Amino acid sequence: MFDLGLNNQRVRHLNKRILLALIYRYKHASKSMLAQQTGLSIPAIGKILEELMDDGKIEHSDRMLSSRGLSGGCYQIPINNSLILCMNVTPNCIESQLVNSQILPLGEYQFAAVSAPHPQALLAAIEQVYYQQRKLHPQRTIQLALAIHGQVDPVTGVSQNMPQAPWKEHIEMKYLLEEKLKTRVLLDNDCVMLALAEKWQNADNPQDFCVINVDYGIGSSFVINQQIYRGSLYGSGQIGHTIVNPDGVACDCGRYGCLETVASLSALKKRARIWLKSQPQNNTHQSNIHQSNTQQSNIQTDWDSLSSKHLIERYQQGDLQVQAWVDNAASAIGLSLYNFLNILNINRIYFYGRSCAFGDRWLNAIMRQTGFNPFDPADPNMTNATRIGFGQLSRPQQIMGIGYLYAEKALENV
Ligand SMILES: [Zn+2]
Repeated sequence: MFDLGLNNQRVRHLNKRILLALIYRYKHASKSMLAQQTGLSIPAIGKILEELMDDGKIEHSDRMLSSRGLSGGCYQIPINNSLILCMNVTPNCIESQLVNSQILPLGEYQFAAVSAPHPQALLAAIEQVYYQQRKLHPQRTIQLALAIHGQVDPVTGVSQNMPQAPWKEHIEMKYLLEEKLKTRVLLDNDCVMLALAEKWQNADNPQDFCVINVDYGIGSSFVINQQIYRGSLYGSGQIGHTIVNPDGVACDCGRYGCLETVASLSALKKRARIWLKSQPQNNTHQSNIHQSNTQQSNIQTDWDSLSSKHLIERYQQGDLQVQAWVDNAASAIGLSLYNFLNILNINRIYFYGRSCAFGDRWLNAIMRQTGFNPFDPADPNMTNATRIGFGQLSRPQQIMGIGYLYAEKALENV
């Protein structure tokens, strides 16, 4: 026998959560819009909204209030005194975007170059970004939402491994920053930031999708049944650490021949540097493309600091050697992805990260290896056909994704 009382309570609870999530997503929602989205009746919606208002989770707003009295206005997350400072943190730079309690942007997206030879310097750089905003908004409470490069434990708030950093030790990031700044800090991995950004800011997404960040390393984050999937390695590293070449080079994770060691931007740069240095007089590689004398001399003196931008430029200019490496990297990504598609049956994939600047040729090389998901119907117009493409969210929208950690906490506490 079902306990009908408990069942009703559960359903009401679930519906409260669904409505609150819709209001977080759409920012302003009328009763009829919520009815349309959920299939619930207007009276049922009215009742749930009342409860959410009693709990202080939402407020009524006159926006969209019809002058003829046909519409009852709309509902929104209360704009309160508290702001959220969203940051994407690496040892080289901090990108930030301030948002209000509805997770709408306040002020401009900011980029700050950072030089962090040790963890204390990185913490100091985060504090500096925070203090700048405190100065601008002295009357407000500013909470932090941090997307951290590398492996992160979102529960303890510890940065476990930051591949770009010169240090190897853990950083008690949440604890240290909360002590110092006397404010709340939530943090997670930078791929989770991208997944949250897509989940909350792209209403077209199906229940299941994944984002793959091909940048310094290769990270991935899966959203399954609208929830961030946190498996081993906290869900952020699975694809990057699938082994594509058992005889390959050592990876940070302790294994050999991981995808990351073949196909990440840092792996490609390393490969280019080693090859270029091995060439007599460092110049035979230039036979492929026309170069002016000044460009040649710039490139020749630049081997050790070969930048990602530079590598991408050479790829696009048609350097055959660089194209061979990058195409090979893209094929390796495609093969790993193919395995994941078959295991998880996820058919919406977004690419983010600086490698996306390699463009359509790179994406096509990936897609050639994945083919279509063999479980798909042949008709590409079917909603469950596999779709692989570049993520379309702007960089500020990507950064704002991490702010939705606060929305998800609010939903947990309904
Ligand atoms: Zn690895």
